[in-house]
This record gives sequence, structure tokens and C-alpha cells, in this order.
Amino acid sequence: MKSYRQELWFEVPTRRAFINITPQVEACLRDSGIQEGLVLCNAMHITASVFINDDESGLHHDYDQWLERLAPHAPVSQYRHNVGEDNADAHMKRQIMGREIVVAVTDGKLDFGTWEQIFYGEFDGRRRKRVLVKIIGE
Ligand code: ZN
Repeated sequence: MKSYRQELWFEVPTRRAFINITPQVEACLRDSGIQEGLVLCNAMHITASVFINDDESGLHHDYDQWLERLAPHAPVSQYRHNVGEDNADAHMKRQIMGREIVVAVTDGKLDFGTWEQIFYGEFDGRRRKRVLVKIIGE
């Protein structure tokens, strides 16, 4: 069995953003040379997510509004976590959107369902953060 590991780095200039990272994950898969196996991709921070959905700007706007209704950033004083920091909402948004994704690899390609793409979800940006890509197979 082959094994491949790579870290993808991001520094989002805003507090929140969604970034399509499918091209980077596909590049990792090409580098790995693996034809049949699994890709695991996870955020390495507790205020960011990796998830799969459609690459559609209206949907991403809707996610942002929905997450803000569930866990509003302000007022920051509403959260007990915010003693010396202001990112309690980002921890909760990450929890909802998830830590990681797994995609099957078939014939050297990501074996997606219709419209599926991989996204990095940032909820406490403006600093350097990592995503892990781990690929195993033959
Ligand atoms: Zn925190």
C-alpha cells in the first residue's frame, strides 16, 4: 500500500470565507500516483472546516447567513469562551460544518457525486492555517 501526506496552507484576509480546494487536492492525488484508494482531508484547526458541497456563490452566502443566525459573532460577550479571545462563534461554526471529508479514489480520480467539490471553510481567518491531505491506496 502507498501512503501520501501533504499540508495545504491558507491565510484568509477576512474573518470568514469558503474556498474551493478541489484543484489542490487533485494535485496531491496526481503527486501520490495512487489509482485506487481513499483521500482524507481535514482542517488542522478547531475554527475551520473541510466539507463537500456545490460550488455556487448563492449557496455559500446562504451558509454564511445560516451560520451567523445559529452562532452570531457579535456580541462577543455572549460566549463564556470569549475571555481573552473572540472566536467562540468560530468553534461552533466549525462544529456544524465538520472537520473532515473522505473521498474514494477510482482510476486515479476523485470519485465524486454530481456537483460535489471540496471546500475549506474559514471562521476565524487573518492568520496562517493548515489543511491535511492524506491519501492511501495502490
Ligand atoms: Zn477559541
